[in-house]
Amino acid sequence: MTARGDGTRVVHSAPTSEGEPFLAGPVFAAPYHLGGADTYGRAHNPTWRALEAALGELDGGECVLFPSGMAAISTLLRVVLSPGDTVVVPSDGYYLTRTLLAEMPVRVLEAPTAGPYPPFDGVRLVLLESPSNPGLDVCDIAELSARAHAAGALVAVDNTTATPLGQKPLELGADVVLSSDTKAVSGHSDLVLGHMSTADVELAERVRTARTTSGAIPGPFEAWLAHRGLGTLDLRLARQAQNAAALYRALREHPAVTGLRWPGAPEDPAHEVASRQMRRFGGVLTFVLADEAAVAEFLARSRLVAASTSFGGLHTSADRRAQWGDPVPEGLVRLSAGCEDTEDLVADVLAALA
Ligand SMILES: *Cc1c(COP(=O)(O)O)cnc(C)c1O
Repeated sequence: MTARGDGTRVVHSAPTSEGEPFLAGPVFAAPYHLGGADTYGRAHNPTWRALEAALGELDGGECVLFPSGMAAISTLLRVVLSPGDTVVVPSDGYYLTRTLLAEMPVRVLEAPTAGPYPPFDGVRLVLLESPSNPGLDVCDIAELSARAHAAGALVAVDNTTATPLGQKPLELGADVVLSSDTKAVSGHSDLVLGHMSTADVELAERVRTARTTSGAIPGPFEAWLAHRGLGTLDLRLARQAQNAAALYRALREHPAVTGLRWPGAPEDPAHEVASRQMRRFGGVLTFVLADEAAVAEFLARSRLVAASTSFGGLHTSADRRAQWGDPVPEGLVRLSAGCEDTEDLVADVLAALA
């Protein structure tokens, strides 16, 4: 049989048998009757396991689920880093990763996602984010992984913006993939969740043990809802990318807009590398309006674009990133195209900017 397409894989991401529901309901147990695979709810849960199997299959590794993207990132950092280690992180990536590292007894080297990167000699962990949030720059994951491995460093990629369908960092050579499933993976803006995947079973086991020990475990209901949402990931990403492409075309020559970025556009500076390593482009684009007031006016006039600090959901949303301390222009907007009809969305955005 030829490899199945993305839609088939996500729809069939929960194995079912006769007499059972298509997706088994959430299990909330604390202790289990002993004798089976499960002992206690902080260590074992069949609802987590089902979603971990689904996400691990898409990522091409073993998945460990976490209560948030940050819980996945912080647990990985805690497991792989020792005091005095050196870490390379994107200067333009998700800001809380840098905040977290600043509190750890490690040496932090920052590099912009588009490069240049410092030499990796003596580096323990190279953390990449591609496309970066919020600037949507892209780095060559295969090339940087090869360089990092030559220097003996471990490579982790925050794949939140791309999603497991948009990019396969483990196939490109990274050791670990990290994701905030709060965003497009769950896709309905109704839960917080995250995961990490790796082909290194020993590392996965250490991370899983750290989760059990710390007690920062995902809620079974959130895991179940995310698994339910995963079934439409292919459909949602397709509509979001179609809407992002249409918005890109509508905004490209707009007099109020500068700094328009979407890696899916052939004229975007990241497009060449992005189209080599990404399997599809998502719905997130970035642009700059004159100032804070111009963004406020745009959001007030729009009927479809919600002011909200997340992305990847059904609803189109926009976030002025400078308000959260990102080192970006005051008027920079990260816009997440939702699943509305393309004509409605483009008309609304153009009217709000008029
Ligand atoms: C949102 C986000 C995170 C953090 O995830 P949470 O689920 O909010 O903890 C990490 N990295 C990126 C790129 C994100 O967008």
